[in-house]
Amino acid sequence: MLGNFGKLLIVDLTKMEITEKELEQDVFHFYLGGRGLGAYLLLKMLLPGVEPLSPRNVLVFTSGPAVESGLTAAAGYGIYTRSPLTGLFAEAYCRGYLPTMLKKSGYDALIISGAAAKPCFIDISEQGVSFFNAEEIWGLNTDEAECSILKAAGTTECESLVIGPAGERMAAFASLKSSRYRNFSRGGFGAVFGSKKLKGIIFKGSAGAAFFTGYEGSVIQWNNHLQERFYQGGMDKAVKMYQLPGLLTMANTRGCFTSGYWSGGRLEGWDKLVDSFGSNDFQVTGKGCRNCFFDCDIVITMQAGGNKTIEVGNLDYYSISVFGGLCRLSDLREIVMLLDYCNRAGLDPVSAGNIASFAAAAGEKGLLEKAPRFGDYNSIAMFLESIVEGKAEDNIFGGGIREAADTLGLNDYAIHFSGLEPAGFDPRVVILAGLAGLVSEFGEQHPVSFYLPGISRGHFNTEKRGNLPGLFVEYEDRETVLDSLIMCRSCHMLVEWEDLIRIIYILTGERYSNAELRSVSNRIITTIRLFNLNQSGALSANNLPLRLTEEPINENKNIIIAREMELMLKDYYMLRGWDENGTPPMGINNEKFLRRSLKCL
Ligand code: SF4
Repeated sequence: MLGNFGKLLIVDLTKMEITEKELEQDVFHFYLGGRGLGAYLLLKMLLPGVEPLSPRNVLVFTSGPAVESGLTAAAGYGIYTRSPLTGLFAEAYCRGYLPTMLKKSGYDALIISGAAAKPCFIDISEQGVSFFNAEEIWGLNTDEAECSILKAAGTTECESLVIGPAGERMAAFASLKSSRYRNFSRGGFGAVFGSKKLKGIIFKGSAGAAFFTGYEGSVIQWNNHLQERFYQGGMDKAVKMYQLPGLLTMANTRGCFTSGYWSGGRLEGWDKLVDSFGSNDFQVTGKGCRNCFFDCDIVITMQAGGNKTIEVGNLDYYSISVFGGLCRLSDLREIVMLLDYCNRAGLDPVSAGNIASFAAAAGEKGLLEKAPRFGDYNSIAMFLESIVEGKAEDNIFGGGIREAADTLGLNDYAIHFSGLEPAGFDPRVVILAGLAGLVSEFGEQHPVSFYLPGISRGHFNTEKRGNLPGLFVEYEDRETVLDSLIMCRSCHMLVEWEDLIRIIYILTGERYSNAELRSVSNRIITTIRLFNLNQSGALSANNLPLRLTEEPINENKNIIIAREMELMLKDYYMLRGWDENGTPPMGINNEKFLRRSLKCL
């Protein structure tokens, strides 16, 4: 399919060898690229029961046909693995300039397998792969490590991806960092890098994929059209309204800004937190990516004493909600300092904030001696440092929330979906958040662009499920196509099915019907389901945390009604074409193709 190279690169870290493979054209037709290609390759590469931190686990990177086409909001790449936190399919998307470099390296997908004997980093380009010893930089934080490996690249035309000390020590919620301030990935990708002794990757190159005849003019037309839609439809105003202060205000007034360890819907002093965004102490700017006018990456800068400046990018509502709400910090300075620490250590802030809050609650129950305290920045910072520095006593938390809850005998108290913690909107108030967590193959998902229309239409806790599963499937299918092309979810509210069909035609010359494109989405989601079934030998947990159905919050006593949620789950399975237990039947998902391609293992 045009828009892709049809090439896959496999890097074996055990043997320090590389193999280049052709990708069948059918794969692109059935899976497009990005999320679809990642799901297909992961299912194909991993034999059942592979331990996430064993050398047999793989890291799959994929690009998509929209990347480097000049299309707006198409600067991303996807990364996939079996998560050490959940044991399930894990996925993450990184934006910025690195995706450009990944595409320019001339491959649609990169697979990293095996494990190096000593710490290493690699340099990938269309000329091949170079392996470097990383013993001297093992132990460095992400800022230092990135500076150091970029020097080795020998050119400024490159981008890098690194882990920090948390990944090296294989903390199950370690993350990745790129372009200095982009901390991304949930589910423990940093730990998988650490298990392979891979400190980082440099991407560079100048390759370009071929697109459909005359695509340039159509891309310009489409970009102009999208921009018009954005401004004329008032989306710019809506985006402003829902920027951080707007979201924080809405969540607190509506009582869905989870605070304490999932024990209330409002943060005391939330207005102080909101006001801080207008203060001179902070500079908040929006940064964009290549060929994109959205400028949606929020960067916050503040002075931190002396000449030190802290700059944190990818500042989102969810990271603020965990340290602000769950850890009960209403001082933006303290939240920014914790986010900065997570960035440098390479920790996923959403899991870190959740687990610090859980530990504080365990401390209040008298189950933990050196526990952090709610609202106490210093004790929370020390707690996170102790996880990253690997002090044995505190390391019951390094394995993630599920393991810690097990050790402390708090299984029914911990809030997570298959080991991954939710954030941002309390599912007892925003029922869609409960449904999203329940059906996610990833363990948890918090798609704000989906919640917002729901929230503004008043889809709060309800005793009637109505068509929420249908709405969710519609949302999930469209996002799956965006993730497979790869285009940002930020444009979800601006593109309809007909737009997606048009975009694919502009880039590749292939014209899908509406039904065909929807079935591509269903195939991808079913492939992920099959992967999870294959790996865990059982259905993904699809269980609600007990407290969400037994412990009401707020003056309205918001709660999830378990029976309603059960019915919604069944509706969802039916809409996906699975049986009532969520098992995809034979014949779905173009099984013949899948079986044939799996034989080529
Ligand atoms: S929508 Fe945002 S993240 Fe996506 S490419 Fe544009 S600026 Fe980057």
